[in-house]
Amino acid sequence: MTSRRCDGCDTKVKIAGGIGDLWSRSWGPTGGMLLELADGSDHFLCLDCVDRLPDDREPTAADVDALRVPDEE
Ligand SMILES: [Zn+2]
Repeated sequence: MTSRRCDGCDTKVKIAGGIGDLWSRSWGPTGGMLLELADGSDHFLCLDCVDRLPDDREPTAADVDALRVPDEE
C-alpha cells in the first residue's frame, strides 16, 4: 500500500498495490483511482473527487482542474 496525492484536492490518499486490489473488499473507505479521461489525459483522483466529476458526460482535464477551485457552486 502506498499513497499518492489527488490531482483534484491535493489530499494524500492510499492506493492499492494493483488493479486486483482495486475492487476487493480490502479497499478502505478512503482511496483513489487513476482515471483516463475522454481527452486522453491521466489523473489520479481520490474517491471524493471522482464523486464530484460530472456524471452526465465524459469528464475531461478541465473538470479535474475545476475540482481545485475552493468555492463550489
Ligand atoms: Zn481529491
